Amino acid sequence: MNPIHVIGGGLAGSEAAWQIAQRGIPVVLHEMRPVRKTDAHQGESLAELVCSNSFRSDDSEQNAVGLLHHELRRAGSLILSCGDANQVPAGSALAVDRDGFSASVTKALEDHPLITINREEIAGLPPEDWDSVIVATGPLTSPAMSKAVLERCGEEALAFFDAIAPIVHFDSVDLSKAWFQSRYDKIGPGGNGKDYLNCPMDKEQYDAFIDALIAGDTTDFKEWEANTPYFDGCLPIEVMAARGRETLRHGPMKPMGLTNEHNPDVKAYAVVQLRQDNALGTLYNIVGFQTKLKYGAQADILKMIPGLENAQFARLGGLHRNTFLNSPKVLDETLRLKAEPRLRFAGQITGCEGYVESASVGCMTGLFAAMERLGQSFDMPPETTAMGALIGHITGGHINRETEQNSPRSFQPMNVNFGLFPPIEVPKHDDEGNRIKGKDKTRAKKLAMTRRAKADFESWITSFEPAQAAE
Ligand code: FAD
Repeated sequence: MNPIHVIGGGLAGSEAAWQIAQRGIPVVLHEMRPVRKTDAHQGESLAELVCSNSFRSDDSEQNAVGLLHHELRRAGSLILSCGDANQVPAGSALAVDRDGFSASVTKALEDHPLITINREEIAGLPPEDWDSVIVATGPLTSPAMSKAVLERCGEEALAFFDAIAPIVHFDSVDLSKAWFQSRYDKIGPGGNGKDYLNCPMDKEQYDAFIDALIAGDTTDFKEWEANTPYFDGCLPIEVMAARGRETLRHGPMKPMGLTNEHNPDVKAYAVVQLRQDNALGTLYNIVGFQTKLKYGAQADILKMIPGLENAQFARLGGLHRNTFLNSPKVLDETLRLKAEPRLRFAGQITGCEGYVESASVGCMTGLFAAMERLGQSFDMPPETTAMGALIGHITGGHINRETEQNSPRSFQPMNVNFGLFPPIEVPKHDDEGNRIKGKDKTRAKKLAMTRRAKADFESWITSFEPAQAAE
């Protein structure tokens, strides 16, 4: 059987290669690292996490990304099984030891008898005799590939900026000022209610910090980058500070649900949280602190945080331009390039955002390509499921019902969210006849949506079961 070629061994490409090989089809996975590097990746492992080590909420009843976790697990995902195997405590989130995670993905793919890994850049459109190709080259697609694809679909590049948060050596944190506690003492899987390190600030310290952020020296934009927007879910801290002095205190620095064990009677005005970054617990990343401050200014300003005065940084933050396709216009329903259907796309280049979303699109693309190779027909995931909602956003099959966004002209990358799902009716009264209102109503609605999604996903994924497909 002719192999399916997957270009890019990131979150999406690794998942796609796995799904295809699990259905008995040979795969050649082409990854350019370490021969050619990107601006954000540090090593040569497959599925490297370039910034945070978190796959976000693991709550599959009340959270849309938690629901994607559920669907990926149900689909036999490599990314989720390696994530689960390398979990570090992070409240109700699924966070992983980043090196352990990437090493397990790499090993599973290297050990698979049907997968060949070639370390090479595919610097343009793939050779014509590759009849089925998945392009999963990510937000930092090499320029040669990006140029060739855009020329082929006759489009300009769409782009936005994404930023990286800094990582600190644990033994350089002053524990006479910082303390361990999860917000509201929430106990997540493998945790004990003390999963985060917290650094408190009083009002004076917060004001001085905001002033320093606003005045800080930032990386200059090149002229062609000047009109590129930021991704809203990942704004640099100095941009948030410039939007309003209180913005950070209502965002990543919110003090709610935390009590300073060194000074329990005094409520902190703001709190900076750090989350464990590796299984050993030797590294911690500063949560939500992505930044484009220049390195010198950045280290000085971060050291103003109480507890981090002597911090040693394993990595400082940075900013990168992400490229993505105008997918509703150039891709068909099954993620094939309309102008050249042998090419399918997966991951962040399609206009999803985030590790879990990228792996999910990789999973779907792998399933579609496999079924096509096996000559079997297949259905699209129902739009009531998280994967269906996500692909609906990407291909423009339906619009975001809350924002009315996603016409081919206004297409922007997006994390999975409940606004992408069809509405659902929930009972107005509980079993005792009391009217359900406020937060209870929201919870009931989300629960109904996730239950519907799980039931619909179950019927859909069964038709892709490897044993059945490989017969
Ligand atoms: P990637 O994981 O980037 O994989 C693409 C792979 O393709 C890479 O290994 C690359 O080396 C390879 N490649 C590129 N071009 C070629 C070529 N021509 N030939 C062969 N190989 C090639 N998401 C989050 O959920 N949390 C975060 O904190 C977060 N922070 C981010 C910070 C930055 C700076 C960036 C750029 C992105 C961030 N993201 C974050 C988004 C994250 O990158 C993606 O969600 C995810 O990694 C994308 O998966 P992917 O498989 O599409 O791309």
